Amino acid sequence: EWLEASNAPITDGALKDGHKVPLLANLGSPKEAAGAIALGAEGVGLFRTEFLFLDSATAPTVAEQEVQYTELLEAFPGKKVVVRALDAGADKPLSFLNEAHEENPALGLRGIRALRVKENILRDQLTALVNAQNKTEADLWVMAPMVADAEETDYFVGLCRELGLRVPGVMAEVPSLALVADQVLETADFVSIGTNDLTQYTMAADRMLGTVGSYQDPWHPAVLRLIKQLGDAGIASGKPVGVCGEAAADPNLAIVLVGLGVTTLSMTPAALAEVRAALLTVTLDEAKARAARALNGRTAAEARKLGSE
Ligand code: PEP
Ligand code: MG
Repeated sequence: EWLEASNAPITDGALKDGHKVPLLANLGSPKEAAGAIALGAEGVGLFRTEFLFLDSATAPTVAEQEVQYTELLEAFPGKKVVVRALDAGADKPLSFLNEAHEENPALGLRGIRALRVKENILRDQLTALVNAQNKTEADLWVMAPMVADAEETDYFVGLCRELGLRVPGVMAEVPSLALVADQVLETADFVSIGTNDLTQYTMAADRMLGTVGSYQDPWHPAVLRLIKQLGDAGIASGKPVGVCGEAAADPNLAIVLVGLGVTTLSMTPAALAEVRAALLTVTLDEAKARAARALNGRTAAEARKLGSE
């Protein structure tokens, strides 16, 4: 149904009533920038830096990283680019950050937890980002993965500000962070919801494990209720709350997310046209009504049905 409309000319993301919803791209390399722009990306909502270094035996140097980040930022003058600090661990181990074998790596020393143990690696990455920021025109935002609470938020945000990064934020991937979203937004400038991990951790079902694959559904009302809590905290604080997990690429769910208070959507560039077309079919009040219905589903399937009509 959206596919036909998605042949329409590329415009900035907006609802039928003109309410703007910037549509951003998830990227894993600066080489993907041109393709994303051609598909209408208004910026980058998630740059997965760990993808650059999956094969590295040693930590990348500041200079080596600066080259990559500069190339990325140069592709987006005047545009928002959200770079994520290394998300090492679980499905994406980096040999220089993850050493010990873990029985349950998804619940282990992952993301900000691993970076905090090796703070010199985090400092090098943030320094490379500051250097790239200071010689380009992009609007650089930086966020940490796998953050659990306000204390970890304060740690990351403090380090970013100390080193000269202008817009520090955190990802909402762990349910505990969503539950204290108001506290998190006292210091973070923004939150970006990673619905892949937020779903995995809310449902306690390994996202890599096929036998529990049916639990990995971001339409589950438990996940939607956590997103609502994050959206409400964003509205109360006046700070942006985006989504950069795969949920943003589902046109009907994208509408519900906006209805829950989400301010930007970031996705694989191939999904941008369909989501743009879907958003144009509803007003903000209609999106809120769909969100309210979806929250009452008793299952993911029921929420999907209620939220799509
Ligand atoms: C997520 O968890 O939704 C996310 C965007 O991060 P990743 O998929 O890289 O874990
Ligand atoms: Mg994640």
